[in-house]
Parts: sequence; C-alpha cells; structure tokens
Amino acid sequence: MSKFRFFEQVNRSFDRAAKLTRHHPTLLDQIKACNAVYYISFPLKRDDGTIEVIHGWRAEHSHHRLPTKGGIRYSMSVGDDEIMALAALMTYKCAIVDVPFGGAKGGVRIARHKYSEAEIERITRRYTFELVKKRFIGPGIDVPAPDFGTGPKEMAWIADTYMTLSGGDINALACVTGKPVTQGGIRGRVEATGRGVFFGIREACGIAEDIKPLGLSPGIEGKRVVVQGLGNVGYHAAKFLQEGGAVLVGLAEYEGAIWKADGLDVDAVMEHRRETGSILNFPGATNLPRSSDILEVDCDILVPAALENQITGENASRVKAKIVAEAANGPTTSEAEAVLKQKGVMIIPDVYLNAGGVTVSYFEWLKNLSHVRFGRMEKRFEEGAHRRLLQVVQRVTGKEFSEADVLASTRGATEEDIVNSGLEDTMIAAYHQIRDTRLRLGSSIDLRTAAFVVAIDKVAVSYEELGIFP
Ligand code: NAD
Repeated sequence: MSKFRFFEQVNRSFDRAAKLTRHHPTLLDQIKACNAVYYISFPLKRDDGTIEVIHGWRAEHSHHRLPTKGGIRYSMSVGDDEIMALAALMTYKCAIVDVPFGGAKGGVRIARHKYSEAEIERITRRYTFELVKKRFIGPGIDVPAPDFGTGPKEMAWIADTYMTLSGGDINALACVTGKPVTQGGIRGRVEATGRGVFFGIREACGIAEDIKPLGLSPGIEGKRVVVQGLGNVGYHAAKFLQEGGAVLVGLAEYEGAIWKADGLDVDAVMEHRRETGSILNFPGATNLPRSSDILEVDCDILVPAALENQITGENASRVKAKIVAEAANGPTTSEAEAVLKQKGVMIIPDVYLNAGGVTVSYFEWLKNLSHVRFGRMEKRFEEGAHRRLLQVVQRVTGKEFSEADVLASTRGATEEDIVNSGLEDTMIAAYHQIRDTRLRLGSSIDLRTAAFVVAIDKVAVSYEELGIFP
C-alpha cells in the first residue's frame, strides 16, 4: 500500500484547480506554500511520576489574512505532513466561506485515551505556553479551535494559559475559539460543524437537476445515510440529518459498525455506547465487526466524519453510496476520487462541507472582540417594534391575533438564533458559489475542483491587491 501523503493530496486538488485559473504561476506557488511550521517537544511528568517526551506542531499555511485560524488535534497520526495539509485546507476553507482568516492547524501526537484528565491539562497548557513563546497564538496572530480529540475543555485551558501570560490584554479571550459559553464561547459552536454539514448536504440534495442523474429524488427526506465517526462532527451531522428526515441505516465507531435497514436513532445508539462501552450489539441492529466495512454498505449518502484516508484506491470501487459527503478532512484520497468520479458518485468536498465550524468560530472571535453577546443590545427593542407592527395590523384588519401567534411573531433573535441563521446563510451562499463556478467551467469539473477555484481566486485577489504579484 502506498504511503498516504496528505499535503500532496491537498496540493493535487490545488493544482487541478489552479490550471483553470489565470493567475501568475509565482502567485499560485505562494498561495500553495506553507508559510511557517513550528515543531515543539517538551517533557510531560505523568501521574505515576515517569517522564515522557511529547511532540507537537503548529503550521500557519497562509498569512494573506490575519489572524490565521485552525483547530488543534490530539491524535497518533499527527505529524508535519498532516498538520501542513490541514492548515492548507483551512486557508481554502476560510476563503470559500468568506471568513477573513489565513489557514493554520496544530496538533499533539498522543493517543488521548491513554492520558488522565490532569495529564491532558498539563499537555494543553504547556503546548499553549510554547505557542505563546514563539508568537504562534494571539487574537490577531493565530487563533486555534477544537478538532479531532479536543473540545471546549481544552480550549478553556488554552484561553486561561494565554490570558495568564498576556498581561491584561482586553482581547485575550479571542486567542482561541470553541470555548465553553461561560468562558467567552458562543452558543451554537459545539454543534456548528455538524449543523453546517447538514446544511451543505441539504443544499446539494435540494437541486433536482443535480440529484436526479444520481437516481435520487430531491430532498433529505427518506435518504439512507451512513455516518462514520460519532464524535463532535459525526454525531451532530447524524442528529441533524435524522431530524431532517433522513434514515440512519449505518453508524460506525472505531470499535465496529452497526447496520439497520429501517433506521437507527443516533441518541439511543450513543446512550447504548455510554452504557456498554461500544456501539456493537445495539438492539435490532446487525454488527459489522470490521468498522471500515460500513464504507461499503448500500446507502444513498455516506458521511465519513472520523479522519483522513478512509476511502482509498483499495476500497473505492466497492463504495455503493451515490453521494460522499466529506464531513471529515481528507477522507477520500485522490486515487479513490478518480474511481468514484468514474462511477458517477457526487463528492461534496471537505473544504466546503465542514466549514461550519470555522464560520461560527469567526462569530465567536467577533463576539470576543466586541465584548458583547449577539442580540443583547437589540433583542427587546426588536420585540417591541414587532409588537407595535402587529398592533397596527390588528387595528387595520380588525382581527385579534392569539397570544401564541403574537409571541411567535414578535420574538427577538437570541445569540443562538443569530449564529445559526448566519451559519445557514453562509453554507447556502458558498454552495451556490461553488456550483455556479462548476457550471461556468463545464460539467466535467467536480465540486472539489470548483471549490478550490473559488478559494484560489479569493486568496489571489488579496495578494494581487497588495501589488506584490503581477
Ligand atoms: P472527535 O474527536 O470529536 O470525533 C472523532 C470520532 O471518530 C471519535 O468518536 C473517534 O472515536 C471516531 N473514530 C476514530 N477513528 C475511527 C474509525 N477508524 N472509524 C470510525 N470512527 C472512528 O473529532 P471531530 O472534531 O468530530 O473531527 C472529526 C473530523 O472532522 C476530523 O477530520 C476533523 O479534522 C474534522 N473537522 C472537525 C471540526 C470541528 O469543529 N471539530 C471542524 C472541521 C473539520
């Protein structure tokens, strides 16, 4: 089996798209290059008193916009290739959803479950300290977020460490996003990536002329969906898809996969996993002991939401899904992509589909810099204005509205309403921008290439405006 080179894979997508643009080759080289990679190692004193050396990375792929932005992952696969690839994807992702950041990514090479909470805290704080020392973190420099193996708790430790070291910087909380709401986080961030995945799939499935050639009817309702990975992104994507009327026929975690033709309830499966330690043996479902077999079962939409390098040249010909919706970063290798394209499978690319996380992270950063919760200033005023308008309508029509109608139509937007509607609007607009680009370039162009063209054009403009490149 050939060695998986993630950054090379991302650059292949870049090169394919770059050929379709008219930008100067030197400018394209600058956009593609990873600007800075910082490698750190430090000792960890484990709870049993032994010492271990921990390895960490942070890559800032593009400084065309500042700060740079991207998650931090804790995984054994972390290394410079993976972190540079993910940082590059962040640059293109931010451009696609009009988030004014450069791309970055960080990671620590650990198997998270082998460490106690106190050890994870020590690792996280020391990693942050090292980033501060080399100015690889800061509200206007580089802003991390959660990724594989990390969540709000780690982000709170990062914020706390940064604030301790930043000496009264009033904007210090904006040094990281994905924080708990009580620590300067924003409502809706935890589920944002999964919710964005849902909006993206819904948008793609909603266009009859695109979906009918796949042998599918428009809409999410009744679509048979498989989700690989039930972490932050996979769980929420599954939940929103289920709520949208999709049938979850297959779910997979690293210990195995389960299948049920008439649908699984994702919350019931999560509860079963909490109780038994595994998703296997879920009542009424069939076990697939080899977790990766789930990628090959019969379904309409396959949602890989775990890690990269899952659909490969080896298994792509056996994939039966009509749509591969890349919730994870880099789940489909370029060899697999060629096979899927031949089979007529639609791939909704990672660089667009999982951009909901960074979109809402951007909202959190804005909230931190403005030091006020969204909706706080205008909510009551809006409610009053709506109420006065209804009173005029009542007076003119002579019709009395029920109190329930009045409440429903006068409610002012909460922070969560604003975040979710901003996210929905962003995902819809970005999908159409990619699709329009694809139509302009010709129907043989896939959505990933079109998405990269959109990204390259936007990044190129910001360089061209600097007047450095011809
Ligand atoms: P997570 O750690 O919350 O969840 C990952 C889940 O996948 C875990 O439950 C893990 O047990 C499971 N898993 C690992 N290997 C597996 C395998 N071989 N088969 C089945 N399940 C497996 O991570 P996450 O934040 O949900 O990230 C998942 C993917 O989404 C990553 O590629 C990440 O880069 C991407 N992503 C995450 C975010 C975010 O906001 N968290 C944003 C954009 C992209």
